Amino acid sequence: MRFFPFLLGCLFLVSSACNSQTKVKTTTTEAPATVESQTPDYKYNPPAVAGEITVIDEPESYWKEVLTSEEYNILREEGTERSFTSPLNDEKRPGIFTCAACGLPLFSSDTKFKSGTGWPSFYQPINDAYVRQDVDNRYGMRRVEVSCARCNGHQGHVFPDGPEPTGLRYCINGLALDFVPMEDFPDGEKK
Ligand SMILES: [Zn+2]
Repeated sequence: MRFFPFLLGCLFLVSSACNSQTKVKTTTTEAPATVESQTPDYKYNPPAVAGEITVIDEPESYWKEVLTSEEYNILREEGTERSFTSPLNDEKRPGIFTCAACGLPLFSSDTKFKSGTGWPSFYQPINDAYVRQDVDNRYGMRRVEVSCARCNGHQGHVFPDGPEPTGLRYCINGLALDFVPMEDFPDGEKK
């Protein structure tokens, strides 16, 4: 019976290990549920009246909570993603590209073109009122910055070397956009 206390000790250790595993599992299953419950608000969120924007003025703490750190860097800190890294470069299905922060529909697949730059490129926004354009003189270059007009999230830049009919190239960070396939829209509710 000398081994009895030893066996008891082993049983205790095994049962503790099982309990801690159970706890970990519970935590990991709860976390995605919170993210999922927020997602629909940011997928497609057009203005109540087309062309009329109500500016969203949330504190930075709010954006830190709802965006991933990569999205936050682009949208709130005017970062640039590495070229050829966004899956949206090769997105060819019909649909709408919305602001990844507030869900405002910014670009349509109808105006997407292959620019070869490695960033999703469009020749015009869905509505001129939905994008803000500001002169950006950083890095010794004079560029025109493009932001979401509703949440002021940085999107990218616009250059005067795009295709017809506008001659413009909206060079947008894929991380600043969400794609909503056209089949997810009820009839007639595209814009
Ligand atoms: Zn936005």
